[in-house]
Amino acid sequence: MDFTLLLLIPAIILSIYSQVKITTTFNKYLKVASAKGVNGAMVAQKILASNGMYDVKVEMTPGKLSDHYDPRSKTVRLSPEVYSGTSLASLGVAAHEAGHAIQHNNGYFPLELRSTFVPVAQIGSTLSFPIIILGLILGSPSFLNIGIYLFTAVVLFQIVTLPVEFNASRRAIGQLQAHGFIAPQEVTGVQKVLKAAALTYVAAAIAAILNLVRLFILSRILGEE
Ligand SMILES: [Zn+2]
Repeated sequence: MDFTLLLLIPAIILSIYSQVKITTTFNKYLKVASAKGVNGAMVAQKILASNGMYDVKVEMTPGKLSDHYDPRSKTVRLSPEVYSGTSLASLGVAAHEAGHAIQHNNGYFPLELRSTFVPVAQIGSTLSFPIIILGLILGSPSFLNIGIYLFTAVVLFQIVTLPVEFNASRRAIGQLQAHGFIAPQEVTGVQKVLKAAALTYVAAAIAAILNLVRLFILSRILGEE
């Protein structure tokens, strides 16, 4: 029995909880129409224009909660429910993605740091576990350690993602209020949606950290054998 597997239990519970939380909260506020009645695409466009960012496109992308900002093509991509929706959930997510575009435009440091981590994190997430498993099969602490270094890059990426996400949501609330897209009594609803979304990133980071702790313990055990 590998007792280090116990470390993964809180990680699994938290990640399931965060997925349930974002789905239920998003769906709940998708049914709450904003008083002003503008849709997500208009909100994103207005926020971009008011920040002088006329070169950033706003497009519809298929899927649910597939919304993202693509810095390479300078495009805010919104899922159909967000793009055309006038709900508090739609406006919150649209403004959040526009918030990422503002971060990019302003050279917001945590976003730049995150971007430089992307290639390393991609290599790390592809190669770390095959190398770790190979290390465990061969009983080779050095293989295991290489895998751990690679996985550390993934963990660091997950951690730098957190300030980027929190900041985009803060900007979203500020922009929605500044342009009068949401009334004061609607702020709480939008905040709940964005907090639930942020929780999924927190859960991913905690899960990654717990995985890393587990790998450290395994490499210690292997080193002593
Ligand atoms: Zn985001």
